[in-house]
Amino acid sequence: MIDQFGRRVEYLRISVTDKCNLRCVYCMPMEGLPWLKREEILSYEEIEQIVRTMAGMGLRRVRITGGEPLVRRDLPDLIRMISAIPEIEDLSLSTNAVLLEDQAEALRSAGVQRLNVSLDSLRADRVDAISRRPGSYPAIMAGLDAAERAGFAPIKINVVLIRGQNDDEIADFAEITRKRPWHIRFIELMPTGANLDLSAKQFVSCDEALRRVEAIDALEPVAGPFGNGPARYYRFPNAPGTVGVITPMSHNYCDRCNRMRLTADGHLRPCLFGSIQTNLRDPLRAGEDLVPHIVHTLQIKPERHYLIQGSDVGSGGLVALSQTGG
Ligand code: SAM
Ligand code: SF4
Repeated sequence: MIDQFGRRVEYLRISVTDKCNLRCVYCMPMEGLPWLKREEILSYEEIEQIVRTMAGMGLRRVRITGGEPLVRRDLPDLIRMISAIPEIEDLSLSTNAVLLEDQAEALRSAGVQRLNVSLDSLRADRVDAISRRPGSYPAIMAGLDAAERAGFAPIKINVVLIRGQNDDEIADFAEITRKRPWHIRFIELMPTGANLDLSAKQFVSCDEALRRVEAIDALEPVAGPFGNGPARYYRFPNAPGTVGVITPMSHNYCDRCNRMRLTADGHLRPCLFGSIQTNLRDPLRAGEDLVPHIVHTLQIKPERHYLIQGSDVGSGGLVALSQTGG
């Protein structure tokens, strides 16, 4: 699958639910969102059919995301179904880890190879405040321990930077990479309909984060752990882990974009932002061939995103990344 700008697309992020057990301040509004109806959501069989079709067209890597994917029942069943597709070489999962303790082992044996965990602070009170769900911190930590016990490696930790809420912990996060084989990735806050005030006033660039990390010790650029993405990685001398930065706002990486997204209700999105998407669910349910719909979506993949800090102009009506999987 090659788009009109010569980019090879071989990676699909699949949102299996729009629901979430947290309400992160940069993502979902406190009151939640109008949830999709049950019948609008793709079944596991439907997701499998879409992945099989795309695998025949060049898809090689899949990430399961949400909302929070672990709130969807029997997720290991879907993992097993996708793992059985021979062309899929890499299957990973993004989670907030609140429900991971009980599921880590089953997910690993079903075929999840790699995990990304969102953790925006190392302090319990701050995790409670940012996730707006008191008590989530111990569950997340237990989930991370269970993931290590289940043999997940590498473990990537995603930290969305928010001025005044966690930017004073940049050095603490970086220090962890000297002790544990964790890959800490600082992410720049992206504006969506639900977070315009926050993203305008509390944005922290990854250049600033890197300056603060470099003040601790020398950092050398490294290839980083195996992955699909746009992160750039650095390492302290002899550290088991790495520090990564994901810079959608300050240095966009759209020219290297290798992905599309499938929403929980079966829309194929060629870009995280903007309003372009193709309904695959209705043609699938009507028994149509999906290939022309997928080819069309690839052809209209935009050259880049047009996000502007403090404005929802570029997000194309997107209220929260939980709607598209991030
Ligand atoms: N619930 C899972 C989680 O939090 O990892 C998966 C879905 S979440 C939408 C995927 C990623 O998007 C998370 O790392 C989250 O921190 C990130 N994210 C959500 N909203 C964001 C925003 N406005 N700017 C930057 N990253 C965001
Ligand atoms: Fe839920 Fe993930 Fe969004 Fe936080 S970032 S509200 S955990 S979907």
